[in-house]
Amino acid sequence: MRLKFNQNILKSPTIITLGKLLTAIQFNNSYAALPDVFYTRQSAAPAPNPAWIAANTDLANELGIDPGFLTSDAGLAMVSGQKLPHGADPLAMAYAGHQFGGWSARLGDGRALLLGEVAGFDLQLKGSGRTPYSRGGDGKSAVGPVIREYILSEAMHTLGVPTTRALAAVTTGEPVYRETALPGAILTRVALSHIRVGTFQYFYANNDHKALQALADYTIDRLYPEAGRAENPVQALFAAIIKRQAKLIALWMKFGFIHGVMNTDNCHIAGQTIDYGPCAFMENFEPMKVFSSIDAQGRYAWGRQPHMAHWNLMRLGEALSPIWGGDENAVAKQIEATLADFSEGFNQCFQTEFAHKLGLNSTNPILLENTLQIMAEHKIDFTLFFSYLRRLEQNDIRDSFLALFNGKEAAESWLTQWQKARDESGISASESQVLMNAANPIYIARNHRVEQAIVAGTSGDYTLMHRLIEVLKNPFEQQENADEYEAAAKPEEAVQQTFCGT
Ligand code: AMP
Ligand code: MG
Repeated sequence: MRLKFNQNILKSPTIITLGKLLTAIQFNNSYAALPDVFYTRQSAAPAPNPAWIAANTDLANELGIDPGFLTSDAGLAMVSGQKLPHGADPLAMAYAGHQFGGWSARLGDGRALLLGEVAGFDLQLKGSGRTPYSRGGDGKSAVGPVIREYILSEAMHTLGVPTTRALAAVTTGEPVYRETALPGAILTRVALSHIRVGTFQYFYANNDHKALQALADYTIDRLYPEAGRAENPVQALFAAIIKRQAKLIALWMKFGFIHGVMNTDNCHIAGQTIDYGPCAFMENFEPMKVFSSIDAQGRYAWGRQPHMAHWNLMRLGEALSPIWGGDENAVAKQIEATLADFSEGFNQCFQTEFAHKLGLNSTNPILLENTLQIMAEHKIDFTLFFSYLRRLEQNDIRDSFLALFNGKEAAESWLTQWQKARDESGISASESQVLMNAANPIYIARNHRVEQAIVAGTSGDYTLMHRLIEVLKNPFEQQENADEYEAAAKPEEAVQQTFCGT
């Protein structure tokens, strides 16, 4: 007897769900396949009562993770580190780094665990307990820094800045002790690997050239396959990393972003923004603005970021020198020559991005210089300046723009200069508008809004966090009922300093 195939069975929702559940998440563990010196296997600390803060179902979809799985009990058990799906191989990565210029020979994931890769991206739990790299720390995270990283990293992503992302945030049900007892939390971070400049430095400092070569091979294979086909793959890798860093820093500056801790262990090898500690979007423009409470010297000020990225890349060049190939003098010269491209790459990108912010096709260095100077002189809100500029024709906006300056005269004079530059460039009004609309966000993660979301979140109310994330999903589009997210902080709300909060 021949059985008749029942077509309807394919449409049965249970079968489809079952099928999805079975492939809810599939880990690849390429980092765990590297030699032992790269990491230490480690499981997460117990979390007595995990509960959701946020689940990023959009990102789950992008990664091919079933959102139904992510938000299920099994998903919660995974992102709290309590029960990992089959195939996860959790480990803490080893790395070193220069922190504020000072050398630390052994940092590593002191409060993070790499679960494995999904669709080519690392999934990492941050705040999941002690590891052999924890030194004096507890390996945990308070809810504040988790909320901060979730909001900021997703905001950077929607602005179009390369960044690690947030898949989930949960509380653990256990207090962590900072100045006071705070709810403990874990962030699930998604990144194009977690290799840092500091990872290369670790093997360089240990004189482990075999591991250094293995790390370079792994990085090329996974992140820069085109470098593998070059005559000198290590040089090509270095050149490609430089290019991405140059672009990244220009994009940070385009949005007034100050990272705050550009240590070499926080310098991502694939050019993503990583480690949202005391970072902030600047409000009143000040080229040497710093938010971080620990950056007393202004080492990582807004305007110093390209110099510091260059400094970090110099450290990477040193770390790559033993596997570069050739005699020492020639290698040093080649590293220097390759690094020289950073300035060119950065400047080109910076000039282009700011040209677009000003509604121009190509750079006008005099206009840009004058603009930044007048913004600093008049302490103008960085985001409002450009977001009003793109909406000058709208009702009332012209007046609001003029009011950003101390005195109408300076404002009118700048506008005349800008108008003239735009006319002379030959760009059409509509073309100029398109450029500005795409370059000048109306909404950024303003510090006081982030702070308010953290304060509420610390007492278990995540509504402000979710609303802020919602608004920041479309930073370039004017939204109804969102004026309060556009406005600068009132003096009593303003946040002038940010903290690592680790
Ligand atoms: P960060 O300032 O976040 O870049 O961290 C610098 C180093 O300190 C890294 O090696 C972290 O793993 C480690 N670290 C930060 N916070 C903690 C913590 N609460 N417990 C243990 N290690 C930590
Ligand atoms: Mg770090």
